[in-house]
Amino acid sequence: MIFLKTEDEIELMRAANLLVGDTLAEIAKMIKPGVTTAQMNSVAEEYIRDHGAVPTFLGFPNPYGGPFPASICTSVNDVVVHGVPNDTPLEEGDIVSVDCGTLLNGFNGDSCYTFCVGEVSDEVKALLQRTKEALYKGIEAALPGKRIGDIGASVQEHCTSAGYGIVKEFVGHGIGKEMHEDPQVPNYGRRGNGPMIKNGMCIAIEPMITMGNPSVYMMPDRWTIKTRDGKVAAHFEHTIAVHNGKFDILSSFEKIERELNKN
Ligand code: MG
Ligand code: MG
Repeated sequence: MIFLKTEDEIELMRAANLLVGDTLAEIAKMIKPGVTTAQMNSVAEEYIRDHGAVPTFLGFPNPYGGPFPASICTSVNDVVVHGVPNDTPLEEGDIVSVDCGTLLNGFNGDSCYTFCVGEVSDEVKALLQRTKEALYKGIEAALPGKRIGDIGASVQEHCTSAGYGIVKEFVGHGIGKEMHEDPQVPNYGRRGNGPMIKNGMCIAIEPMITMGNPSVYMMPDRWTIKTRDGKVAAHFEHTIAVHNGKFDILSSFEKIERELNKN
């Protein structure tokens, strides 16, 4: 069932999502070779709690195993999603996707940004750029009267035309009082197909795009998802609301990119 949100609820969602953006900006400040994803997790958890929210991912149930043990997902290089923070230092040339969720005043925020550690190759930079562009192409398709398939088709066309792979096992989603609500929002699809997009809908759009083949597998920890060919993957995510006949991006990369541009 798709829960449409009121204007007041959308403002609560915006607050939760801006806190996610602020948290990711704190992480942007510390990204460099030698830093561990466990250190990033500690900073994120403390920042979220200091701002009166709960890190939604901590203890998140897993249909395949134990609950998620950390407050952010940190997916390095060939890890596509759901990487568990650990004590391995990041190295020059790595990329790390940091996915963060907050629960604030009863509503959820969810956003992800893929960071470069030091200097990365032009090939990898191009993948990150294309994935972020695809996210905005998807968002631009999220208008009342269109369909969820229009979002997926827009993301898919922008990535496959550059030769990249679309991960199909994981998808975007409705979001509100629950982190994952209906409808599912795949990064592929056909225009004119799927649920109708309506005013009041809040969804997370999150392309997960691979440099090579999009086939993935789960590690024995029952969380970490990697590409089978060992090539890198990128992941960018915004939570948006559709209201007043338009899309409205509730999360923000603005502070993240301000921090990154200082370096
Ligand atoms: Mg997320
Ligand atoms: Mg999400």
